Amino acid sequence: MPILPGKGYSLTMPRPALCPTHPLIFEEHRVAVTPMQSGYRLGSMMEFVGFDDSVRPERAFAGTFHANESASQLQRAYDEASSGALPSVPPCEFYCHTLTDSTILAPPLRAAGVQTLTAFGLHMPTRLFVADPDAARDAALAATLRSIDSVLAEPIEDCLLRTPDGAPCVEVRTPLDIEDELRMPGGNIFHRDLQWPFAEHEDEVGTWGAQTDDPRVLLCGAGARRGGGVSAIAGHNAAMALLLSPAGRAA
Ligand SMILES: Cc1cc2nc3c(=O)[nH]c(=O)nc-3n(C[C@H](O)[C@H](O)[C@H](O)COP(=O)(O)OP(=O)(O)OC[C@H]3O[C@@H](n4cnc5c(N)ncnc54)[C@H](O)[C@@H]3O)c2cc1C
Repeated sequence: MPILPGKGYSLTMPRPALCPTHPLIFEEHRVAVTPMQSGYRLGSMMEFVGFDDSVRPERAFAGTFHANESASQLQRAYDEASSGALPSVPPCEFYCHTLTDSTILAPPLRAAGVQTLTAFGLHMPTRLFVADPDAARDAALAATLRSIDSVLAEPIEDCLLRTPDGAPCVEVRTPLDIEDELRMPGGNIFHRDLQWPFAEHEDEVGTWGAQTDDPRVLLCGAGARRGGGVSAIAGHNAAMALLLSPAGRAA
């Protein structure tokens, strides 16, 4: 049977409190409404445009490639991780650093057109890896490859280099591995869960989120309130705490 690829456009969201009981089609707007048990989808036109090879892979992979990171997919992965399971389709993003800087490859690999790819999985907290780290690492790899494959024209595994003994050139680091190797708490890229920049408790009001029990020590990195991420908020807050302290005012 001939099969045609299609591009559909839809928006999936949590089921609203007031929800139609049957699917609806608004013909004049060409919008279909699908109420589901656990969600609500607005869909629109479908395009049958054939395979589109006009986008060069170098362009598609030049930035951050987001896979399965819609709000509903992130929510599902979060819910699965909260219930103690690895996300079935992990939201992930990947980068091909060698497209920007191929000098990180040995010359023969560069000449052969080899690329590196870093995939970064979301909603895989440390606790999911504690009971059986090796099995969980394997499962996380399999799930992440599935997630990547879901947005590619051909399976990524067919494109992987192999070691002389035939193993795929894939290196997997779980949050536990990162904690062991780099001492990053919980393998968290932000060193801990992100926090809002504003005070959430009475005792934080009037502080900069940078103070510690020792008045001579201020946090200016990821450990401060809203310190994680490349935000520079923590450095700003530590400077303000210093400038507005009695010592800072005297100087
Ligand atoms: C792969 C990855 C991707 C990320 N992507 C993003 C992103 O897209 N957006 C975003 O906002 N954030 C991102 N982050 C998070 C962000 O990079 C961190 O939250 C941020 O860099 C933390 O800043 P910091 O200054 O507290 O710590 P760091 O940047 O970790 O700096 C700590 C410094 O202290 C040094 N150090 C440690 N111990 C000692 C010692 N004993 N003596 C002297 N020096 C020491 C370290 O070498 C390091 O240079 C990412 C992190 C990772 C790992």
